[in-house]
Amino acid sequence: MVKTEQYQGRRIFVCESCQFGYAERILAEKCEHYCGANRSCSLEITKHALKRG
Ligand SMILES: [Zn+2]
Repeated sequence: MVKTEQYQGRRIFVCESCQFGYAERILAEKCEHYCGANRSCSLEITKHALKRG
């Protein structure tokens, strides 16, 4: 499940598989889906991450 947390004063959406955080829930959901299916991250998705690892 994508979770939300505060990061640098804003709310972000975090992929529970890789802990990368995104400004938009849809990106975190895509990331989590990809991470779950491939056991690695998609550069196309993680380039949008605000918080890494
Ligand atoms: Zn991920």
